[in-house]
Amino acid sequence: MDAMVIAILGVPARCGGCGTFPFHAPQAPFRLDDMFVCVKCHRKSAYGQLLDSIGKEAMRQAKQALKFLRERSTMRKALEAHGPRRWTGRSV
Ligand SMILES: [Zn+2]
Repeated sequence: MDAMVIAILGVPARCGGCGTFPFHAPQAPFRLDDMFVCVKCHRKSAYGQLLDSIGKEAMRQAKQALKFLRERSTMRKALEAHGPRRWTGRSV
């Protein structure tokens, strides 16, 4: 069996036991109840479970990205209100 990383849009499925990516894959095409075996701890995960974990991880990353953008825009507003003014070239 080949080891492979199951990833969607750059988000890999992780082993529920040890958190690593590569799994020994069954023959493609995969069905949701096909079992993938972790290369490290040999824990078995169904393909459906792995896809589910990718979905959760993608949600987590999306939330983090939103939080980051929100914080950044809050910081920019604070800087615009109270921060350093742009240098106009006039000497004081
Ligand atoms: Zn594992």
